[in-house]
Amino acid sequence: MTESTIRNVIIIGSGPAGYTAAVYAARAQLQPLVFEGSVTAGGALMTTTEVENYPGFSDGIMGPALMEQMRTQADRFGAELVADDIVAVDLTGDIKSVTDSTGAVHQARTVILAMGSGYRKLGLPDEERLSGHGVSWCATCDGFFFRNHEIAVIGGGDTAIEEATFLTRFADKVTIVHRRDELRASKIMAERAFGNDKIQFAWNSEVASIQGADKLTGITLRDTVTGDTRELPVTGLFIAIGHDPRSELLEGQIELDDEGYVLVRDGSTNTNQSGVFAAGDLVDHTYRQAITAAGTGCSAALDAERYLAALD
Ligand code: FAD
Repeated sequence: MTESTIRNVIIIGSGPAGYTAAVYAARAQLQPLVFEGSVTAGGALMTTTEVENYPGFSDGIMGPALMEQMRTQADRFGAELVADDIVAVDLTGDIKSVTDSTGAVHQARTVILAMGSGYRKLGLPDEERLSGHGVSWCATCDGFFFRNHEIAVIGGGDTAIEEATFLTRFADKVTIVHRRDELRASKIMAERAFGNDKIQFAWNSEVASIQGADKLTGITLRDTVTGDTRELPVTGLFIAIGHDPRSELLEGQIELDDEGYVLVRDGSTNTNQSGVFAAGDLVDHTYRQAITAAGTGCSAALDAERYLAALD
C-alpha cells in the first residue's frame, strides 16, 4: 500500500460517539473513513423510540431520526461512511490497519474506537419487539415515561437497585425481580431499597415470558426453586442485568479493564497505543448516555487532530 492511501483517521462505530468524531474530524479536513457496522449502523438509539434528553430538541426526537441527523451532518462535511463491519485490527505500529468484512485492509495514522456496548438481554422472543414500548434498559433515559405506572426491574446488582430506586420517583410501584433470595448489590444500596415503600421484591424469580400486543401489559414470573409461575401485571420492564462492551477485536492490542472496557488515560481519550483513541460506551461504565458518548466522540477527534499535528 502506498503512502497516499494511508488515511489520517479511521473511525470504527456509528453511534453518537462515532458520528460526532466524524463531524469533528471531517470539519478539521482530516477526511475520516467511518465504518458504521453492517446491521446496527446508527448504534443503540436505532432501537428506541422517543429521546427526550438530547439537548437541542425541545420537543424530543425519535432515536433513528436523531442518528440520521448525525449521519447527514458527518456526510455533509465529507466523512466517508461505509456500512460494513471491521473484523480485525492491527493497532500496534505507527500505521494502523483495519480489515473489513470483504477482507480489504485500510490503513491510517490514527484510529478512533467507538463500537459501543450491548445491554445484556433476557433472551425472550418478545423482548426486542416491545423495546421502547414498555421494555427498557435505561431508567435515566425512559423513567420519565412511566409516571404512575407499575414497573418490574430485573436484576440484583447495584445497577438494578439504583435503577429501581430512581424509578420510584415516577412509578407507583416497582418490583425488583431477582433469581436468588438475596441481592448482589452493596449493603448500603440494598438497605436504601428495603426502606423504600414503593419497592417490592420477587425473590427466586425469573421472567418466563413477556405479554403485550403494541405495549407491555405484563410479565410471567417463574419461581427458580419450585418452577411455579405467576403473572405480574406491569406496564414497564427495566432489564438491568449488565452490559458488554464490544471490545473482542481489541483483545491483546489495547489495554482493557477486567470487564472488557477500553482503558483511557489522563482524562483524555488516549489508549495505551499512541494514535488510538476511544470514546462512548466502549469506555464508559458510568454515564452511558447519547450526549456523553457524543461528548467523548468530540474529544477523541480533537485528540486525534492534535496527535496528527504533532507528527507533521
Ligand atoms: P452505540 O450507540 O452503541 O454505537 C456503536 C455502534 O458501532 C454499533 O451499533 C455499530 O453500529 C458500530 N460497531 C460496533 N462494532 C463495530 C465493528 N466491529 N465494525 C463497525 N461498526 C461497529 N441515551 C440517551 O441519552 N437518551 C435516551 O433516551 C436513550 N435511550 C436509549 C434506549 C435504548 C433502548 C438503548 C439501548 C439505549 C439508550 N440510550 C439513551 C443510551 C445511548 O443509546 C448510548 O449511551 C449511546 O448510543 C452510546 O453511543 P456509542 O456511540 O458509544 O455506541
